[in-house]
Amino acid sequence: TNKDQLIQAVKKLKEENKRLTKLYAAKSDLVSISVHQVRTSLSAIKWILKMFLDGDLGAFTAEQQNLMSKAYEGNDRAISIVSELLIANKTEEAIGKDYSFEKINIQELIESAIFDFSGEAYIKGIETIFLKPDNDMPEVNADKEKIRVVLQNLLENAIKYSNKHGKIFITLIKNGDFCQVSVKDTGVGISEEGKKKIFGKFYRDSEAEKKEIMGSGMGLFTTKEIVEKHGGKIWFESKDGEGTTFFFTIPIFK
Ligand code: ADP
Repeated sequence: TNKDQLIQAVKKLKEENKRLTKLYAAKSDLVSISVHQVRTSLSAIKWILKMFLDGDLGAFTAEQQNLMSKAYEGNDRAISIVSELLIANKTEEAIGKDYSFEKINIQELIESAIFDFSGEAYIKGIETIFLKPDNDMPEVNADKEKIRVVLQNLLENAIKYSNKHGKIFITLIKNGDFCQVSVKDTGVGISEEGKKKIFGKFYRDSEAEKKEIMGSGMGLFTTKEIVEKHGGKIWFESKDGEGTTFFFTIPIFK
C-alpha cells in the first residue's frame, strides 16, 4: 500500500541521513587534523624566516633580504588562509556534531593550548603568563576538543588584537560548582558598539576591520555556543585601548 511505501521511504531516508552525518563528522575531523598540521609547519617556517629577516643569523644582501621578505609575506598569507579554514571547520563542528562529555583536567588543557600558540606569541613579542591555581583544580565535565576550541579562539584573539610586546594573563579558579577561566590581554579593547554585538555571527569590530586583521567574526559566536552547551557562561570586561578580559565557566565533574 501507499502507506507502507511511505514508511519504507522514511526509514531509508533516516538511514541515509545517519550515514551522511557519520561521513560528515569524519570529513570534519580529517580537515581539522590536516589543516592543523599544515598551520604548524607554516608557523615553524615563519619563525625561521623571521630570524633570518631580523638578521639574527648574519647579514644579507639587499636582494636576498627582498626575496626573504616576499617569502615571509607569502607564508603569512598562507597561515591566515588556513587559520580561517580551521575556524570555519570548527564552527561547523561546534554547532553540528554531538558532544561527548567526560572528566577533563582543564589545567592541562590550558597548558597545551598556550603551548600551541607560543610560536605566534613569540613572533609578536607577546608574553603569555598562566597564573596557575594554588590548589589542585577539580576536573570538569566537558568535551575536551570543544573546550580546546574555546581556549584556542580566546588565545588567538588575545594575540591578534594585542599590540607588539603586550602581555596575556590566563587564570584558572574555582567558582562554586564551576571552574572559571580568564584570558586577559593588553590590546586594543572593544568599542561600545562591539560590546553589544561581539558574540553575534560574523560581527567584527571596526578596529579589527581598520587594521586589516584577518578574521571571520565567527570565533566568539562559536565559543559562546560551546560554553553554553556545557552549561557554562561567558562574558568579558573591556576598556577601549586598555585591553580586554574574557571569562568563561565550565561545570565541575560530579
Ligand atoms: P574574528 O576575530 O574572526 O574577527 P571573533 O568572533 O573571534 O572574530 O571576534 C569578533 C570581534 O570581536 C573581532 O573582530 C574583534 O573586533 C573583537 N574581539 C575579539 N576578541 C578581542 C580581544 N581580545 N580584544 C579586542 N577585540 C576583540
